[in-house]
Amino acid sequence: MNTLEINPSLEEDDLARLFGGGKSSGFSRGVALRIDKLKGILKKLLTPELCYRKVNIDSINNGSVCLQGGPSFKSPKLSRTLKSCETIICFIATIGCQIEKEIRQLTSRNGLAGAYILDSMGSVAVESMAEKFHRRMESQYKAQEKGVTLRFSPGYCDWPVTEQKKLFNVFDSSQLGVTLSDSCLMQPRKSISGVFGVTPSNGKTPGQYNPCTDCKKYDCIARRG
Ligand code: SF4
Repeated sequence: MNTLEINPSLEEDDLARLFGGGKSSGFSRGVALRIDKLKGILKKLLTPELCYRKVNIDSINNGSVCLQGGPSFKSPKLSRTLKSCETIICFIATIGCQIEKEIRQLTSRNGLAGAYILDSMGSVAVESMAEKFHRRMESQYKAQEKGVTLRFSPGYCDWPVTEQKKLFNVFDSSQLGVTLSDSCLMQPRKSISGVFGVTPSNGKTPGQYNPCTDCKKYDCIARRG
């Protein structure tokens, strides 16, 4: 298992997207001031950790991706995306649990708006870690004339959230800063697990499959262009 230091960041346009669309320039003065104040608080609460493993793919068929030594991930969209890959990268990222305490305190003091904004900021921060990791690996592989596929997480697209258990089994749980409940929820809550494939060419292969192009889930905020 490998670990990486990746600092979360907070893109306000991503926050605006979570608030229902538009750009951060559309925030009211009150919301913008509140976000500025919470940014300082969030910075002190972050304890980011990211671990990952590269695993060889044994076979891809019948909508499943079978890893060498197990497990086998069941998702037709994931299998189609990874069809040319020999290796998969599995990762788990978290910003830690300190933010939860602050959200609970704000809620108990009736600071519901602040709690909601901080919760959303936590989601954007952990997503930024996954995105930076994905991009970092992409440039590493580019130097080897390889590329990476789009990123997938259990619970999105057609990959059932229950497959989260299989993904966690790829790691040594005693070294993880994230645990999984029986209902497959991660603790700390502001964590992301996922995978992407390593492609044998530079990732710009014409016709590389993007499942979002023919997906009917029009309200999906994770849609890739
Ligand atoms: S639009 Fe959303 S649900 Fe559909 S394939 Fe893309 S990420 Fe998955």
